[in-house]
Amino acid sequence: MQEKWILVRMGEISLKGKNRYIFEDILIKNIKDSLADLEDREIEKAYGRIYIEAKDDFKEVSERLKNVFGIVSFSLAVKTDLNMEAIEKSVLRVMAELDASTFKVDCRRPNKKFPVKSPDISRQVGGYILKNLSGWKVDIHNPQHLLEIEVRDEGAYIYTGSVPGPGGLPVRSTGKGILLLSGGIDSPVAGYLGMKRGVELIGLHFHSFPFTSQRSKEKVIDLSKELSKYCGTFKLYVNHFTEIQKEIRKKCPEKFYVTIMRRMMFRIAHRIAQKEGALAIFTGENLGQVASQTLESMRAINEVTDYPVLRPLITMDKQEIIRMAEKINTYEISIRPYEDCCTLFLPKYPATKPNVESVRQSEEELDIERLIEESLEKTEVLQVKGV
Ligand code: ATP
Ligand code: MG
Repeated sequence: MQEKWILVRMGEISLKGKNRYIFEDILIKNIKDSLADLEDREIEKAYGRIYIEAKDDFKEVSERLKNVFGIVSFSLAVKTDLNMEAIEKSVLRVMAELDASTFKVDCRRPNKKFPVKSPDISRQVGGYILKNLSGWKVDIHNPQHLLEIEVRDEGAYIYTGSVPGPGGLPVRSTGKGILLLSGGIDSPVAGYLGMKRGVELIGLHFHSFPFTSQRSKEKVIDLSKELSKYCGTFKLYVNHFTEIQKEIRKKCPEKFYVTIMRRMMFRIAHRIAQKEGALAIFTGENLGQVASQTLESMRAINEVTDYPVLRPLITMDKQEIIRMAEKINTYEISIRPYEDCCTLFLPKYPATKPNVESVRQSEEELDIERLIEESLEKTEVLQVKGV
């Protein structure tokens, strides 16, 4: 037997006690989904690891696995029969593909029935390499290549090096949330971080056609495409917010436009959360970044929903957010110069510390229930899939 497998390590999931199997099964399903359009292959689970049969497309598979949350790292390994001769032969094949340099052999032997102990396997294999390949030298403190051997029940795995995965928890393992997705820099990053903690996010975008153009909607769809890389298909609600904004402008004091607009956004998000069975609302808000992002303002907005409002970026600096947006390829899309619905009716002097009681009173002129119902009726639902 000499087969190639990708050995996947899952880190945090293995700490989840009895629920571990649920997490592992979700991760396996997510891996399968991410590779669904490639050649068919075996995917197995054993002792806190996942093994993916390797074909000739390791590079492509590798790119996909880098976006599957829950994977800590992975390695391309050769699997061989359980005897020293087979192990040594495979080791030579693995090492022959590398440029000769310094190395160290590290062995683990969860299979205690294997007759040779780990330190002895390492020593013996090390000696075998030195005898059969030229140019190699042992360096136990700082080797150029670490050759790892894992002796398990079903065979021995041999590999050098590993590729880092994205970490986190598998998407869909911790529940559903509604992500308020604008066309800005912040909310896609908040979405990425929410998904990284295993949340299945459903996007909600408020569009103010004809004040905002078709292009600004396309921008949000492109951002959704980037986010879909982590979850397969990204469901996006596009809400037509124009009527609500007009009403606010007509009937509410200018200094509260932004606060009232956000309260309406949260009320709509609340309705969609109920419909979708979601348990939280995610936003890209950040403390102190703009006038409306103060604690007073957050309190005045939060009041309209009893779902937790989660703000993954709350403590981050703008530069950190931008760096992360660049890393996940959303930055270039976010800076396209199309207007956002919030900037349209921006008052000259927004209340930075809105008083909840005054905001409630200012809203009394609005027929909130009717406005919400009408805008929900006009909401489109899109299923956005990868790039
Ligand atoms: P972003 O870069 O995410 O747009 P921002 O710094 O521009 O954030 P605001 O415009 O105050 O901040 O928006 C704060 C949050 O409110 C956004 O991160 C987003 O979650 C939500 N939001 C704002 N506008 C919209 C919109 N048109 N559709 C959906 N959500 C929105
Ligand atoms: Mg914005």
